[in-house]
Amino acid sequence: MSDAATKDQAGPSASDGAGSYEAGSKEAGSRETDSNGTKPGLAGLTREARSRYSRHLLLPEVGPEGQRRLMDAKVLIVGAGGLGSPVALYLAAAGVGTVGLIDPDLVEASDLQRQIIHKTSGVGRAKVDSAGEAVKDLNPLVEVRTHRLRLDSSNAMGIVAGYDVVADCSDNYPARYLVGDVCRLSGKPDVYASVHQFEGQAAVFSPGGPCYRCLYPTPPEPGLLPSCGEAGVMGVLPGILGTVQAAEVVKIILGAPRTLAGRLLTVDAWLMTFLEIELERDPGCPLCGDRPTVDRPADYELFCRQEAASPGETMTPEELLRRLDSGERPQIVDLRDPHERLLMPVPGSMGVSFAKLRAAMPELDPGRDLVLICGLGSRSLFAARLLKKAGHPGRVLSLAGGARALAAARGDAESPY
Ligand SMILES: [Zn+2]
Repeated sequence: MSDAATKDQAGPSASDGAGSYEAGSKEAGSRETDSNGTKPGLAGLTREARSRYSRHLLLPEVGPEGQRRLMDAKVLIVGAGGLGSPVALYLAAAGVGTVGLIDPDLVEASDLQRQIIHKTSGVGRAKVDSAGEAVKDLNPLVEVRTHRLRLDSSNAMGIVAGYDVVADCSDNYPARYLVGDVCRLSGKPDVYASVHQFEGQAAVFSPGGPCYRCLYPTPPEPGLLPSCGEAGVMGVLPGILGTVQAAEVVKIILGAPRTLAGRLLTVDAWLMTFLEIELERDPGCPLCGDRPTVDRPADYELFCRQEAASPGETMTPEELLRRLDSGERPQIVDLRDPHERLLMPVPGSMGVSFAKLRAAMPELDPGRDLVLICGLGSRSLFAARLLKKAGHPGRVLSLAGGARALAAARGDAESPY
């Protein structure tokens, strides 16, 4: 909404919606002046803050009391990427007092398609530094805390303890289970969203209500799910879901009566449909059920990701290129989907989608080394193990790092990865 539109609607539409929220700001809003003629409702708000947050102060559901709550709040954003970008920017704009950012990664050129907090000039910088600078630039009244690390079982409880609300803007399952567990164990709300290609979902896992494990009791089969980097995502999509997360964080801080707690919002941006699914607490949930078994955070890599490859299971891209150069002809099977293969073809390879690999076994020559390729090397390792289990008699190798690493090894600057 443009600023002009907000201005035009500030009177009538703000009061139209007033009945549906019981915010904690009523008391402050009703006290206009005290006996000295000052405005106790605005106490603690500097002239700068009053001007900057005036559109909040005009809302009865926020008002000076709600704005002070926002200014006192500490929110941790796990992941300074596609979801973290709008969350960090909107929370900064809203005047959330302390914004914490966790991310171990550096900004890459391929992030800029959706991670709008980062700029072209920031490529190569730590994401937390790039994002922290953008937050400060937007609102110098906000305190930024940066944690350039990966959240794990050893640091998560300590870091989360310093915040009131956590926004899970991560892009992988181990992080989501970890954030969900640590939030529940610490009694903090977990404001969750995730995106995949054109679809996204968001929910609030609040103490007392259903948790992430009530929704997803068992992690997905390792290796079967391509990571975000491998699967592709419409750039606008994390913007849609991230703004939903930011709105929920602000509402939780304000004490809004109806959040996404107990509801899963699903978005299909290709069809542009928004659906809502009611979530219930699962009495058998290992985290929040009647007999919980999770009482401390664990490193979920163990059950979310497959074991690391052993030496005989993989081939490096350099080795593959050397073999091809020397005239060897290993069988190369490209497991990526047809449109991915078109983006970055692997010469001499046979395209077999992951789902059709078993059916294609009779076409494979057991007398030659078989090299499996996927986007990043995870699906291909999983597939190599599947083929061995299914009885393929020849040698099966997964290309380490996948097509992305192969492109890098041959100095291919045009790689889509
Ligand atoms: Zn649960």
